[in-house]
Amino acid sequence: MFTKRCVAFLFFFSIFLTPTVSSVLASHSTKLPSPSINELPPPPQLPDIQIVKGIVKKGDTASSLLNNYLPLKTIYAMDRQSADSFSLRRINKGHPYKIILQEGALIGFEYEINQENKLVIQRKNNGFSINQMPIDYDVTLEVVTSTITYSLFDAVKKSGERSELAWKLSDIFAWDIDFIRDIQPGDRFKVLVEKRYQEGKLAGYGKIQAAVFINKGKRFDAFLHKNSNGVSGYYDKKGNSLQKAFLKAPLAFSRISSKFSTKRMHPILNRSRAHPGVDYAAPMGTPIKTVGDGIITKIGYNKTMGNHVIVRHCNGYITRYYHMSKFAKGMKKNKRVLQGDIIGHVGMTGLATGPHLCFGIKHNGKLLDPLSYNSPSATPVNPHEMEQFLTKAQKLSQTMLTAQKQGPSNKESA
Ligand SMILES: [Zn+2]
Repeated sequence: MFTKRCVAFLFFFSIFLTPTVSSVLASHSTKLPSPSINELPPPPQLPDIQIVKGIVKKGDTASSLLNNYLPLKTIYAMDRQSADSFSLRRINKGHPYKIILQEGALIGFEYEINQENKLVIQRKNNGFSINQMPIDYDVTLEVVTSTITYSLFDAVKKSGERSELAWKLSDIFAWDIDFIRDIQPGDRFKVLVEKRYQEGKLAGYGKIQAAVFINKGKRFDAFLHKNSNGVSGYYDKKGNSLQKAFLKAPLAFSRISSKFSTKRMHPILNRSRAHPGVDYAAPMGTPIKTVGDGIITKIGYNKTMGNHVIVRHCNGYITRYYHMSKFAKGMKKNKRVLQGDIIGHVGMTGLATGPHLCFGIKHNGKLLDPLSYNSPSATPVNPHEMEQFLTKAQKLSQTMLTAQKQGPSNKESA
Protein backbone atom coordinates (compact mmCIF):
# COMPACT_ATOMS: atom_id res chain seq x y z
CA MET A 1 0.00 0.00 0.00
CA PHE A 2 2.85 2.37 0.76
CA THR A 3 5.00 1.53 -2.21
CA LYS A 4 4.17 2.85 -5.61
CA ARG A 5 6.33 1.47 -8.37
CA CYS A 6 6.38 3.14 -11.70
CA VAL A 7 8.91 1.99 -14.18
CA ALA A 8 10.03 5.22 -15.69
CA PHE A 9 11.56 3.92 -18.87
CA LEU A 10 8.59 1.77 -19.82
CA PHE A 11 6.31 4.74 -19.31
CA PHE A 12 8.59 6.79 -21.47
CA PHE A 13 8.61 4.28 -24.31
CA SER A 14 4.89 3.83 -24.12
CA ILE A 15 4.60 7.51 -24.87
CA PHE A 16 7.09 7.74 -27.62
CA LEU A 17 7.05 4.43 -29.39
CA THR A 18 4.53 2.39 -31.28
CA PRO A 19 3.18 -0.73 -29.50
CA THR A 20 5.28 -3.02 -31.71
CA VAL A 21 8.48 -1.34 -30.72
CA SER A 22 7.62 -1.21 -27.06
CA SER A 23 6.94 -4.96 -26.93
CA VAL A 24 10.23 -5.61 -28.69
CA LEU A 25 12.05 -3.54 -26.14
CA ALA A 26 10.27 -5.28 -23.31
CA SER A 27 11.48 -8.65 -24.57
CA HIS A 28 15.01 -7.30 -24.41
CA SER A 29 14.55 -6.25 -20.83
CA THR A 30 16.24 -8.50 -18.28
CA LYS A 31 13.29 -8.14 -15.95
CA LEU A 32 10.98 -10.36 -18.04
CA PRO A 33 11.49 -14.12 -18.60
CA SER A 34 13.08 -14.57 -22.01
CA PRO A 35 11.62 -17.10 -24.40
CA SER A 36 14.04 -19.71 -25.69
CA ILE A 37 15.96 -18.94 -28.87
CA ASN A 38 13.77 -21.26 -30.97
CA GLU A 39 10.59 -19.43 -29.99
CA LEU A 40 11.96 -16.02 -30.86
CA PRO A 41 10.25 -14.32 -33.79
CA PRO A 42 12.48 -13.11 -36.60
CA PRO A 43 14.27 -9.97 -35.43
CA PRO A 44 12.17 -6.95 -36.37
CA GLN A 45 13.61 -3.70 -37.58
CA LEU A 46 14.68 -1.87 -34.44
CA PRO A 47 14.31 1.82 -34.93
CA ASP A 48 17.40 3.70 -34.01
CA ILE A 49 16.25 5.46 -30.85
CA GLN A 50 18.76 7.70 -29.18
CA ILE A 51 18.33 9.73 -26.04
CA VAL A 52 20.54 12.71 -25.37
CA LYS A 53 20.43 13.65 -21.70
CA GLY A 54 21.80 16.78 -20.16
CA ILE A 55 21.52 19.50 -17.59
CA VAL A 56 20.72 23.01 -18.80
CA LYS A 57 23.87 25.12 -18.51
CA LYS A 58 24.18 28.85 -17.98
CA GLY A 59 23.28 30.65 -21.19
CA ASP A 60 21.50 27.64 -22.74
CA THR A 61 18.21 28.31 -24.46
CA ALA A 62 15.71 26.08 -26.23
CA SER A 63 17.29 27.18 -29.51
CA SER A 64 20.82 26.37 -28.42
CA LEU A 65 19.74 22.94 -27.15
CA LEU A 66 17.66 22.02 -30.18
CA ASN A 67 19.19 23.79 -33.17
CA ASN A 68 21.28 20.75 -34.10
CA TYR A 69 18.07 18.81 -34.66
CA LEU A 70 15.46 21.32 -35.77
CA PRO A 71 15.37 24.37 -38.03
CA LEU A 72 15.10 27.63 -36.06
CA LYS A 73 11.71 28.29 -37.65
CA THR A 74 10.36 25.11 -36.06
CA ILE A 75 11.90 25.94 -32.69
CA TYR A 76 10.24 29.38 -32.74
CA ALA A 77 6.90 27.82 -33.61
CA MET A 78 7.36 25.35 -30.75
CA ASP A 79 8.25 28.22 -28.45
CA ARG A 80 5.04 30.08 -29.34
CA GLN A 81 3.01 26.93 -28.89
CA SER A 82 4.62 26.15 -25.52
CA ALA A 83 3.46 29.43 -23.98
CA ASP A 84 0.15 27.82 -22.98
CA SER A 85 1.66 25.07 -20.83
CA PHE A 86 5.21 26.12 -19.95
CA SER A 87 7.09 28.59 -22.10
CA LEU A 88 10.35 27.28 -23.52
CA ARG A 89 11.77 30.70 -22.65
CA ARG A 90 11.61 29.77 -18.99
CA ILE A 91 14.18 27.00 -19.37
CA ASN A 92 16.63 27.49 -16.56
CA LYS A 93 20.15 26.35 -15.73
CA GLY A 94 20.52 23.31 -13.51
CA HIS A 95 17.38 21.54 -14.74
CA PRO A 96 17.67 18.15 -16.48
CA TYR A 97 16.43 17.63 -20.02
CA LYS A 98 16.22 14.84 -22.61
CA ILE A 99 16.27 15.00 -26.37
CA ILE A 100 14.75 11.92 -28.00
CA LEU A 101 15.88 11.09 -31.52
CA GLN A 102 14.69 8.47 -33.95
CA GLU A 103 17.13 7.77 -36.75
CA GLY A 104 18.71 11.12 -36.02
CA ALA A 105 15.46 13.08 -36.21
CA LEU A 106 14.00 14.72 -33.13
CA ILE A 107 10.79 13.04 -31.98
CA GLY A 108 10.65 14.35 -28.43
CA PHE A 109 11.99 16.77 -25.86
CA GLU A 110 11.54 16.65 -22.10
CA TYR A 111 12.47 19.28 -19.55
CA GLU A 112 12.09 18.95 -15.77
CA ILE A 113 10.31 22.11 -14.66
CA ASN A 114 10.57 21.26 -10.97
CA GLN A 115 10.66 18.12 -8.84
CA GLU A 116 7.03 17.33 -9.63
CA ASN A 117 6.45 18.20 -13.28
CA LYS A 118 8.11 18.08 -16.64
CA LEU A 119 7.45 19.64 -19.99
CA VAL A 120 6.89 16.95 -22.62
CA ILE A 121 7.10 17.77 -26.30
CA GLN A 122 6.30 15.00 -28.78
CA ARG A 123 6.30 15.02 -32.54
CA LYS A 124 2.77 14.51 -33.84
CA ASN A 125 2.07 14.29 -37.57
CA ASN A 126 3.33 17.60 -38.91
CA GLY A 127 3.59 19.38 -35.59
CA PHE A 128 4.24 18.89 -31.91
CA SER A 129 2.12 18.23 -28.88
CA ILE A 130 3.25 20.13 -25.81
CA ASN A 131 2.12 19.15 -22.32
CA GLN A 132 3.06 19.30 -18.68
CA MET A 133 3.17 15.89 -17.06
CA PRO A 134 4.11 14.56 -13.65
CA ILE A 135 7.65 13.19 -13.50
CA ASP A 136 7.70 9.42 -13.07
CA TYR A 137 9.64 8.19 -10.11
CA ASP A 138 10.06 4.89 -8.34
CA VAL A 139 8.63 5.91 -5.01
CA THR A 140 9.38 3.98 -1.85
CA LEU A 141 8.46 4.74 1.71
CA GLU A 142 11.53 4.50 3.92
CA VAL A 143 12.47 5.06 7.52
CA VAL A 144 15.43 7.29 8.26
CA THR A 145 16.82 7.68 11.77
CA SER A 146 19.78 9.52 13.19
CA THR A 147 21.13 11.05 16.37
CA ILE A 148 22.44 14.58 16.51
CA THR A 149 26.02 15.18 17.53
CA TYR A 150 26.47 18.60 16.01
CA SER A 151 23.53 19.81 13.91
CA LEU A 152 20.45 18.50 12.19
CA PHE A 153 22.15 18.78 8.80
CA ASP A 154 25.12 16.84 10.04
CA ALA A 155 22.84 14.13 11.48
CA VAL A 156 20.88 13.83 8.24
CA LYS A 157 24.11 13.54 6.27
CA LYS A 158 25.36 10.89 8.67
CA SER A 159 22.28 8.78 7.91
CA GLY A 160 23.25 8.82 4.22
CA GLU A 161 20.56 11.28 3.18
CA ARG A 162 20.61 14.67 1.50
CA SER A 163 20.28 18.01 3.27
CA GLU A 164 16.91 18.49 1.53
CA LEU A 165 15.53 16.05 4.10
CA ALA A 166 16.79 18.23 6.96
CA TRP A 167 14.91 21.20 5.51
CA LYS A 168 11.73 19.19 5.22
CA LEU A 169 12.05 17.91 8.76
CA SER A 170 12.82 21.30 10.27
CA ASP A 171 9.85 22.82 8.43
CA ILE A 172 7.51 20.39 10.16
CA PHE A 173 8.71 21.10 13.70
CA ALA A 174 9.70 24.75 13.18
CA TRP A 175 6.80 25.87 15.38
CA ASP A 176 8.04 23.93 18.39
CA ILE A 177 11.78 23.64 17.92
CA ASP A 178 14.27 26.33 17.00
CA PHE A 179 16.70 24.23 14.99
CA ILE A 180 19.53 26.70 15.49
CA ARG A 181 19.27 27.36 19.23
CA ASP A 182 17.33 24.45 20.76
CA ILE A 183 19.24 21.51 19.27
CA GLN A 184 21.64 19.61 21.49
CA PRO A 185 23.81 16.48 21.19
CA GLY A 186 21.76 13.35 21.79
CA ASP A 187 18.62 14.73 20.16
CA ARG A 188 17.32 12.19 17.68
CA PHE A 189 14.73 11.70 15.00
CA LYS A 190 12.93 9.04 13.02
CA VAL A 191 11.27 9.92 9.73
CA LEU A 192 8.96 7.99 7.44
CA VAL A 193 9.55 9.63 4.10
CA GLU A 194 8.79 9.02 0.44
CA LYS A 195 12.01 8.68 -1.47
CA ARG A 196 12.00 9.20 -5.20
CA TYR A 197 14.32 7.29 -7.46
CA GLN A 198 15.06 7.67 -11.14
CA GLU A 199 16.91 4.86 -12.85
CA GLY A 200 17.88 3.53 -9.43
CA LYS A 201 19.37 6.79 -8.20
CA LEU A 202 17.92 8.96 -5.46
CA ALA A 203 16.26 11.91 -7.17
CA GLY A 204 14.78 13.59 -4.12
CA TYR A 205 12.12 13.30 -1.47
CA GLY A 206 8.36 13.38 -1.57
CA LYS A 207 6.22 14.02 1.47
CA ILE A 208 7.29 13.10 4.98
CA GLN A 209 4.40 10.89 6.13
CA ALA A 210 5.31 10.80 9.80
CA ALA A 211 8.15 11.90 12.04
CA VAL A 212 9.29 11.74 15.64
CA PHE A 213 11.78 14.22 17.05
CA ILE A 214 13.24 13.97 20.52
CA ASN A 215 14.54 17.38 21.60
CA LYS A 216 16.09 17.77 25.06
CA GLY A 217 14.27 14.60 26.09
CA LYS A 218 10.91 15.90 24.94
CA ARG A 219 9.12 13.93 22.24
CA PHE A 220 7.36 15.58 19.30
CA ASP A 221 5.23 13.56 16.86
CA ALA A 222 4.03 14.57 13.44
CA PHE A 223 1.57 12.86 11.12
CA LEU A 224 0.61 14.06 7.68
CA HIS A 225 -3.10 14.57 7.17
CA LYS A 226 -4.98 15.91 4.18
CA ASN A 227 -8.33 17.40 5.13
CA SER A 228 -11.49 17.10 3.09
CA ASN A 229 -10.70 20.44 1.41
CA GLY A 230 -7.50 18.89 0.09
CA VAL A 231 -5.21 20.91 2.37
CA SER A 232 -2.33 18.95 3.91
CA GLY A 233 -0.79 19.62 7.28
CA TYR A 234 1.03 17.96 10.15
CA TYR A 235 -0.72 17.00 13.38
CA ASP A 236 0.31 15.41 16.64
CA LYS A 237 -1.03 12.09 17.96
CA LYS A 238 -4.21 13.74 19.18
CA GLY A 239 -4.90 15.60 15.96
CA ASN A 240 -3.68 19.01 17.11
CA SER A 241 -2.04 21.02 14.38
CA LEU A 242 1.72 21.41 14.70
CA GLN A 243 1.33 24.74 13.03
CA LYS A 244 0.66 27.73 15.18
CA ALA A 245 -1.72 30.54 14.36
CA PHE A 246 1.22 32.96 14.35
CA LEU A 247 4.79 32.85 13.12
CA LYS A 248 7.52 33.26 15.72
CA ALA A 249 8.68 36.49 14.06
CA PRO A 250 7.51 38.64 11.14
CA LEU A 251 10.93 38.66 9.51
CA ALA A 252 13.99 36.49 9.15
CA PHE A 253 17.64 37.41 9.63
CA SER A 254 17.03 40.15 12.13
CA ARG A 255 18.37 41.21 15.51
CA ILE A 256 16.14 42.17 18.39
CA SER A 257 17.15 45.74 19.17
CA SER A 258 14.48 46.49 21.75
CA LYS A 259 12.32 44.15 23.76
CA PHE A 260 8.80 44.48 25.02
CA SER A 261 8.56 46.46 28.24
CA THR A 262 6.12 48.46 30.18
CA LYS A 263 8.75 51.12 30.86
CA ARG A 264 11.77 52.35 28.92
CA MET A 265 13.54 55.53 27.87
CA HIS A 266 12.39 56.53 24.39
CA PRO A 267 15.54 57.20 22.30
CA ILE A 268 14.06 60.24 20.55
CA LEU A 269 11.52 61.64 22.95
CA ASN A 270 14.06 61.01 25.73
CA ARG A 271 11.51 60.26 28.35
CA SER A 272 10.36 57.06 29.95
CA ARG A 273 7.71 55.38 27.89
CA ALA A 274 6.45 51.83 27.65
CA HIS A 275 7.51 49.88 24.59
CA PRO A 276 4.50 47.80 23.76
CA GLY A 277 6.25 45.68 21.15
CA VAL A 278 9.53 44.33 19.86
CA ASP A 279 11.97 46.11 17.59
CA TYR A 280 13.71 44.00 15.00
CA ALA A 281 16.72 45.74 13.51
CA ALA A 282 17.13 44.57 9.92
CA PRO A 283 18.58 45.94 6.71
CA MET A 284 16.50 48.48 4.81
CA GLY A 285 14.07 46.71 2.51
CA THR A 286 13.99 43.36 4.36
CA PRO A 287 10.61 41.76 3.63
CA ILE A 288 8.08 41.84 6.47
CA LYS A 289 5.61 38.97 6.71
CA THR A 290 2.24 38.95 8.38
CA VAL A 291 2.52 36.44 11.22
CA GLY A 292 -0.95 35.01 10.71
CA ASP A 293 -3.99 34.87 8.44
CA GLY A 294 -6.12 37.97 8.76
CA ILE A 295 -7.48 41.16 7.27
CA ILE A 296 -5.67 44.49 6.93
CA THR A 297 -7.73 46.93 8.97
CA LYS A 298 -5.39 49.89 8.66
CA ILE A 299 -2.65 50.84 6.24
CA GLY A 300 -1.14 54.31 6.03
CA TYR A 301 1.33 56.85 7.36
CA ASN A 302 1.61 59.00 10.44
CA LYS A 303 4.44 60.94 12.07
CA THR A 304 5.06 58.43 14.86
CA MET A 305 4.45 55.03 13.29
CA GLY A 306 5.59 56.01 9.79
CA ASN A 307 4.24 53.63 7.16
CA HIS A 308 2.29 51.10 9.16
CA VAL A 309 -0.04 48.15 8.74
CA ILE A 310 -2.50 46.71 11.25
CA VAL A 311 -3.88 43.21 10.73
CA ARG A 312 -6.90 41.72 12.48
CA HIS A 313 -6.82 37.95 13.05
CA CYS A 314 -9.32 35.42 14.36
CA ASN A 315 -10.22 35.13 18.03
CA GLY A 316 -9.48 38.70 19.04
CA TYR A 317 -5.84 38.99 17.94
CA ILE A 318 -4.40 42.09 16.29
CA THR A 319 -0.83 42.55 15.03
CA ARG A 320 0.82 45.79 13.93
CA TYR A 321 3.92 46.61 11.89
CA TYR A 322 5.53 50.09 12.01
CA HIS A 323 8.20 52.18 10.24
CA MET A 324 8.08 50.41 6.87
CA SER A 325 9.99 51.89 3.95
CA LYS A 326 7.19 50.79 1.65
CA PHE A 327 4.16 48.53 1.51
CA ALA A 328 4.13 45.38 -0.59
CA LYS A 329 2.31 45.60 -3.90
CA GLY A 330 -1.45 45.30 -3.70
CA MET A 331 -1.74 45.87 0.06
CA LYS A 332 -4.81 47.88 0.96
CA LYS A 333 -7.46 48.20 3.62
CA ASN A 334 -9.74 45.14 3.96
CA LYS A 335 -7.35 42.95 2.00
CA ARG A 336 -7.22 39.36 3.23
CA VAL A 337 -3.67 38.19 3.96
CA LEU A 338 -2.30 34.73 4.68
CA GLN A 339 0.33 33.77 7.21
CA GLY A 340 3.75 34.48 5.71
CA ASP A 341 2.50 36.92 3.05
CA ILE A 342 4.88 39.81 2.56
CA ILE A 343 3.04 43.00 3.51
CA GLY A 344 5.89 45.50 3.37
CA HIS A 345 9.59 46.22 3.79
CA VAL A 346 11.76 47.37 6.65
CA GLY A 347 12.41 51.09 6.76
CA MET A 348 12.76 53.99 9.20
CA THR A 349 9.73 56.13 8.47
CA GLY A 350 8.09 57.93 11.40
CA LEU A 351 9.84 58.08 14.75
CA ALA A 352 12.86 55.83 14.18
CA THR A 353 16.61 56.14 14.59
CA GLY A 354 17.53 53.38 12.16
CA PRO A 355 15.96 50.79 9.87
CA HIS A 356 13.85 48.44 11.99
CA LEU A 357 10.43 46.93 12.33
CA CYS A 358 8.43 47.74 15.44
CA PHE A 359 6.08 44.80 15.87
CA GLY A 360 3.28 44.44 18.37
CA ILE A 361 0.50 42.04 19.20
CA LYS A 362 -2.73 42.44 21.16
CA HIS A 363 -5.25 39.92 22.34
CA ASN A 364 -8.72 41.18 23.22
CA GLY A 365 -7.23 44.65 23.69
CA LYS A 366 -4.44 43.47 25.97
CA LEU A 367 -0.80 43.94 24.91
CA LEU A 368 1.24 40.75 24.68
CA ASP A 369 5.00 40.28 24.66
CA PRO A 370 5.63 38.94 21.13
CA LEU A 371 8.71 37.07 22.35
CA SER A 372 7.09 35.11 25.13
CA TYR A 373 3.35 34.75 24.55
CA ASN A 374 2.01 31.33 23.60
CA SER A 375 0.67 31.39 20.10
CA PRO A 376 -2.60 29.51 19.74
CA SER A 377 -2.44 26.43 17.54
CA ALA A 378 -3.84 26.40 14.05
CA THR A 379 -7.09 24.50 13.54
CA PRO A 380 -6.93 20.84 14.67
CA VAL A 381 -8.15 17.89 12.62
CA ASN A 382 -11.84 18.29 11.84
CA PRO A 383 -13.94 16.21 14.30
CA HIS A 384 -15.57 14.45 11.32
CA GLU A 385 -12.17 13.31 10.10
CA MET A 386 -10.72 12.49 13.52
CA GLU A 387 -11.41 8.76 13.51
CA GLN A 388 -9.89 8.36 10.08
CA PHE A 389 -6.90 10.45 11.17
CA LEU A 390 -6.29 8.45 14.35
CA THR A 391 -6.43 5.17 12.42
CA LYS A 392 -3.94 6.46 9.87
CA ALA A 393 -1.64 7.88 12.56
CA GLN A 394 -1.58 4.53 14.31
CA LYS A 395 -0.81 2.74 11.07
CA LEU A 396 2.04 5.14 10.31
CA SER A 397 3.46 4.67 13.82
CA GLN A 398 3.36 0.91 13.30
CA THR A 399 5.11 1.24 9.94
CA MET A 400 7.82 3.34 11.56
CA LEU A 401 8.37 0.72 14.21
CA THR A 402 8.63 -2.20 11.83
CA ALA A 403 9.92 -0.75 8.56
CA GLN A 404 13.52 -1.26 7.64
CA LYS A 405 15.45 1.35 5.81
CA GLN A 406 15.42 0.11 2.25
CA GLY A 407 15.30 1.30 -1.32
CA PRO A 408 14.47 -0.37 -4.61
CA SER A 409 16.57 -3.47 -5.23
CA ASN A 410 18.45 -1.80 -8.07
CA LYS A 411 19.28 1.30 -6.05
CA GLU A 412 22.88 2.39 -5.88
CA SER A 413 24.07 2.75 -2.32
CA ALA A 414 23.70 6.40 -1.33
ZN1 LIG B 1 9.29 49.70 18.66
